[in-house]
Formats: sequence, structure tokens, C-alpha cells
Amino acid sequence: MSLLLDLIFPRSCYSCHRPGRYLCLHCQSELVVRSIRPPQRLPLFRYHGPIKAMIHDLKFSFISDLVPEFALLISRTLKTKFPHLLEYWQEENFIIVPIPLHPYRQNWRGFNQSELILKELAPLINLKYQNLLIRSKNTLPQTQIKDKALRHTNISSAFCAIGHNYKNIILFDDVYTTGSTTKSAISCFPKDTNIWILTIA
Ligand SMILES: [Zn+2]
Repeated sequence: MSLLLDLIFPRSCYSCHRPGRYLCLHCQSELVVRSIRPPQRLPLFRYHGPIKAMIHDLKFSFISDLVPEFALLISRTLKTKFPHLLEYWQEENFIIVPIPLHPYRQNWRGFNQSELILKELAPLINLKYQNLLIRSKNTLPQTQIKDKALRHTNISSAFCAIGHNYKNIILFDDVYTTGSTTKSAISCFPKDTNIWILTIA
């Protein structure tokens, strides 16, 4: 399928438009890698330029071929820029967990992009992947709610955790926006759970 698509729509770099892949190695090396935010949050890249366009196309244009591209990019960035953090996650047996979409949205979109990326990413970085969260309310997409307070109401208690026996967890999402989605996900776990947040942007 991928080969066929390559013939119909030849891949080219989202940044320099050179043919070959979605983000050529040169443009990958030009990406500004961000730093860890307190308390334990790592947004890897700025949400702009090729990263923004790739995330948008993955979500809304169903270009699922972007999934392995993102998995490789995240894995390479963690290994080269955050080797000690990655080692710590591996040694302490962190479980990496996608922040889910509501079933309604998942159905409409066809897939949860965070989950698809994680399935490919987890083995590349030697971490165990598990679905521990389900959405409990039919919340509106965050981008459709302009008011900040309403946005929080919309997302609070939106998730339920399926398992409580995990001490070390990394929550993964594509984009960290207001943080209310993440806060809601965090609130599902016992207070003493050691939680890291990893997002593409
Ligand atoms: Zn390029």
C-alpha cells in the first residue's frame, strides 16, 4: 500500500520539499528540540513549521504513513538529546500510555494518532506500551471551546484509568495545548504515581 501510494503521491519533505521522505534528515537536524518543563514534562518540538503541518495532516488528512515517520523522529530525538532520561525510564520500567480520544471522535477520524505512534515508538525505545485510560464523557474537541474556564469543565473527569497497579507512567499525546486534557488524565491515577508527560509538541 505504501509503495503504491509513493508512486501516486511521491513523498517529499514537509520543510524543504526535497523528494524522498516526509522530513529529510537535514531538516530533522534543523528542528529546535525543547527542554524539560517542570515538574516532569517534555514537549519535544515547537508546534510550528513542518511539525505542525505533519501533525495536522496525520490528524485531519488521514496520512497514516506519517505514523512511522513520527515514531522514528521521536525515538531518534530521545536517544540523542535525552539519553539519560530515556535510560531512567527504561531502568524504572515506565509504562508509556496514550491519551485517548473519545470513541465518537476516534470513529469519525478512524484512529487515535497518539496510540498509533506509540505502538511503533514503544519497541524502538524499549518501553512497554499500554492503554490505561478510557474517555468517560463525550467531550467537545478542545479547539471548539474558546473560553478557558469552560474548556476545563469540558475535560475534567473525562477519563477513567483501567489499572491502578502502575507506579511509573509516561502519558503521551501529540500536542500539549492548555494542559487540561493532561491534568484530567493525571487525576485518574493515585497521587503517588510517578507521571511524566511526553508530547511531540
Ligand atoms: Zn527537508
